[in-house]
Amino acid sequence: MAELKLGPPRVENAQIRIPSTYGAVRAFGDNMAGSAMPSLGLHRILRVFLTAPLLLQAATGWAAISVGAPSAYSSQQAVTGQSGLESPLPVFEMHSGFWVNLHHFLYLQARLLKGNSSSTDTVRGAAQPDELPVSLIDFPEADIHAWQDAVAFYSKDLAGRDLLLNGDMEIINNQLSALETCAELEGKTTPLCKSGLRQDLVEALERAAPVYRAHWWAQQDRANREWIAQVAPMIQKMGVELSSQLSDVYQRPWPSQRLRVDVVWYGGPFGAYTSLDPIHVTISSHDPRNRGVYGFEVLFHESSHALAGAVTAAIARDFRERDKPIPRDFWHALLFYTTGEIVRRDVEYGTMTFTPEQTSGPSAYLPYAARFGLYSGSWEHFHGLLDLYWLPYLDGKVSFDTAMARLAADM
Ligand SMILES: [Zn+2]
Repeated sequence: MAELKLGPPRVENAQIRIPSTYGAVRAFGDNMAGSAMPSLGLHRILRVFLTAPLLLQAATGWAAISVGAPSAYSSQQAVTGQSGLESPLPVFEMHSGFWVNLHHFLYLQARLLKGNSSSTDTVRGAAQPDELPVSLIDFPEADIHAWQDAVAFYSKDLAGRDLLLNGDMEIINNQLSALETCAELEGKTTPLCKSGLRQDLVEALERAAPVYRAHWWAQQDRANREWIAQVAPMIQKMGVELSSQLSDVYQRPWPSQRLRVDVVWYGGPFGAYTSLDPIHVTISSHDPRNRGVYGFEVLFHESSHALAGAVTAAIARDFRERDKPIPRDFWHALLFYTTGEIVRRDVEYGTMTFTPEQTSGPSAYLPYAARFGLYSGSWEHFHGLLDLYWLPYLDGKVSFDTAMARLAADM
């Protein structure tokens, strides 16, 4: 099995050039020359070189921004034959869509009305929204009724459902995401805009839409676009490298399709979630945990959900072989640990830079899960075991199978 070493991304004077948005060529990695950690083989350097072209483009629609270029796939395929672990380059398609934002905002307002009584608010990683229900003072009476009716509709049922684990909520999110450019959801303007969603839900959304558009959408859309603008340079700079690091660690190719990312003002109690069929990341621009480098870490944590197959299979196998119960959520702690550790190293090696929101030095970068208190209870135990047995794998000292077997043996 190939060993892993997650060091700085470029060595031996390899200079990677990435065309920036405006066609100028930006080089990075030069300062890594002569580093003590020759982590990447020649094929990788070639591949990164060939697949590096990234572009950031404003696409049609409300706001669609892709990081990555489909044209790069052809050159990438030319070298994939050299290793079974090669991955396509990451292509994130970022959106700030009207309906999907309205849906999540109504979900939030209904939950605030219910006083956060939903059980998901007490789960690890969940944060109570620190908002008050929106004020409707001085709104026209018709607006107040329309908005309150829609919130009441969400309160009845939808607000108590989990955005990710509930299949209906997943379908609603995917559908509303796909219809972001539609002015309505019943197909009156074009059959392409027929959502197929429950009639009462469509009515609630359409009733709330003009009120939302008049009072909150502009500001929330702006926040979403600002979030995208903040994270895009980090993806341009580190996305190719980080995606191939994660792909190596998890022994799964990076997904070949574009990753649809909906940036929403409110993204549920966890600040982000990802459904897998198709891969769809929903991430909050307003959640204070998603700012700066943490937004970048969260984006790649979410994306790595699509790479977790070998990890969950190995955990299941190794625990069953030992007649041990599979520890709940252990795979998820491992995902948080891994992305956090790799981003921490990338920050430390200087390939990631801090945004003004983060004033601490690079060596002080605390991965998301540690920074936001996820390692408590059983996860504190997981954290210790990951330090002992998974970190050596990330350091290239032991194989994936050995690390997994040791984790299972000592759990
Ligand atoms: Zn996750």
